[in-house]
Amino acid sequence: MPQEEKNQTVLLPEVVSIKMLATQLGVAPVEIIKKLMESGILVNINESVDFDTAAIIASEFQFDAIKSDEEESRTEEKDDKSKIKKKVRPPVVTIMGHVDHGKTKLLDAIRETNIIGTESGGITQHIGAYQTKVKFEEENGKKSQRAITFLDTPGHEAFSQMRAQGANITDIVIIVVAADEGVKPQTLEAISHAKAAKVPIIVAINKIDKPDSDIDRVKRQLTEHMLVPEEWGGKTPMIGVSAKTKEGIDKLLELIVLTADVEELEARSDGNAKAVVVESKIQSGKGAVATSIIQEGILKPGDVIIYDDDFAKVRFLEDWKGQRIKQALPSDPVMIAGFKKIPKTGGIIFALKDEKTAKARLEERRKKDTVKGIGAVRSLADVSKSTKEGEKITELKIILRADVKGSLDAITDALEKFSQSDIKVTAVSSALGAITESDINLAIASGAIVVAFRVPIPANVLKLSEANDIKISRYEIIYELIDDISAALEGLLEPEIIETTIGKLEVIKVFFKSKGKTIVGGKVIEGKITPGTKVLVYRGEEKIGELKTELVQIGGERVNVVEKGNECGVSCLGELKLKAKDILEFVLVEEKIRSIKKITQ
Ligand code: GDP
Repeated sequence: MPQEEKNQTVLLPEVVSIKMLATQLGVAPVEIIKKLMESGILVNINESVDFDTAAIIASEFQFDAIKSDEEESRTEEKDDKSKIKKKVRPPVVTIMGHVDHGKTKLLDAIRETNIIGTESGGITQHIGAYQTKVKFEEENGKKSQRAITFLDTPGHEAFSQMRAQGANITDIVIIVVAADEGVKPQTLEAISHAKAAKVPIIVAINKIDKPDSDIDRVKRQLTEHMLVPEEWGGKTPMIGVSAKTKEGIDKLLELIVLTADVEELEARSDGNAKAVVVESKIQSGKGAVATSIIQEGILKPGDVIIYDDDFAKVRFLEDWKGQRIKQALPSDPVMIAGFKKIPKTGGIIFALKDEKTAKARLEERRKKDTVKGIGAVRSLADVSKSTKEGEKITELKIILRADVKGSLDAITDALEKFSQSDIKVTAVSSALGAITESDINLAIASGAIVVAFRVPIPANVLKLSEANDIKISRYEIIYELIDDISAALEGLLEPEIIETTIGKLEVIKVFFKSKGKTIVGGKVIEGKITPGTKVLVYRGEEKIGELKTELVQIGGERVNVVEKGNECGVSCLGELKLKAKDILEFVLVEEKIRSIKKITQ
């Protein structure tokens, strides 16, 4: 099959016109229209399709489509791509960690460290992000000033919300751990989030001013969780700080600059801006405003922007100190005013040439929404259901396809962690790019589930999968995939058996004996007893065997519970012969569906 041949790659925006697709693939537009018709999508040459659909068509012409995330700006600049100049931009930093470990105070301390005299009084503005300047000595001894942008919304909810929207704006994560308390559950969660986002981590061990602080203990604990300090041969810079006395803050800032240098953070610094919404609200006198981080280009007052499903004109821009500014550059936190309605957090804002372009672009987006792409089928949930209904599997096999190596690694890492002693998650195959027919064949052969993470499913592959009842689970967000896998695994896990001793009875008299059944009279000497339990039989110190209770009676009437101190009759099932003075221990046996420990929140 042609899928084994090496495909060429083609860069496509979120919305692709048929004309553009045809040009990019080097075929006649009518060829594209024909292929789309085969998939049940009717378009004419002037219409557009979404990226996924375009990617499927591309794959039929032996092209691997890659989504260009510079959709809007690219179209503006496409005349001459070589003109795009990239410049170093400041790092965008998020602080995460356990509650009360000092995230807020650390953010405050950093903010204050770099505000000079008169400024400090005037800053009451809180816009959800700020930028600080650090004096830095370059390798060649030259002194320079570097900027760092901090997202002032501590907590990983904000972080994951952004990521869930596909906006990965954080370049560096600082994990704050209190030197006196050490690693706590939310510290571990923060580590998972940062690792899943594949961003460099710096650990700030805070509160070192406290007498019971123990930096080495924190480092040991973190090492157990795969964050090994640089000085112990690991990769993670860790530094002791005090947000209270400000000790170590300068060093921390220097570490951030050094880490950013290694990352070589760059962005296009001219042309139309692209920004991500960090926070948004209605502010009296200003209307709907949004704190955004510029990702590319320059944003200026008067610029026409599109956001969510609307467009607006930037009324004015304010920096984090609340001062009006004339422009905002990559990584700058900026408050934008002029929206018609509150833009959603994590949403992307694109600046465009003029209103006409904005309207046209929105129209394209709307069309895209009405274009039916290939539907998503959830099949992991089905696995969970069918296994709960009795089928027992001890292994979940997955065929995984992802868009980029980063996602593939993050997912396989997470899958590995899922494997427990009695259940295994095996990636039968994991690869980049669109799902192929051979994936489906492998799924048929191995009984694996097919997971498509942000990759297209070509029409021929979909047909093959449907014909063979192989469902393809399609995901855009890692956490959703992980959640579904954990739900499916819960269905696969053998239930946990929990045994609890609820009471003891001393046999006074044996009333009746037959094959398989004994009825005794006795007194409850501990706890309470109930029918339907397991019974351990003790003669003196020795356990002589097990029986099951059938009925418990008082005065010839069936009862459900007999409490300590009362006498009753008990009929037991089993071959064991009971005698007076035997002690019966009543054990309640429960089955509990085991839950899988979530790797990520
Ligand atoms: P968050 O929940 O992580 O944002 O923690 P906060 O920044 O609100 O700090 C929690 C508490 O720890 C507050 O009472 C802070 O004053 C205190 N705290 C934060 N940093 C330090 C520090 O470096 N030293 C000392 N002694 N206390 C601190």
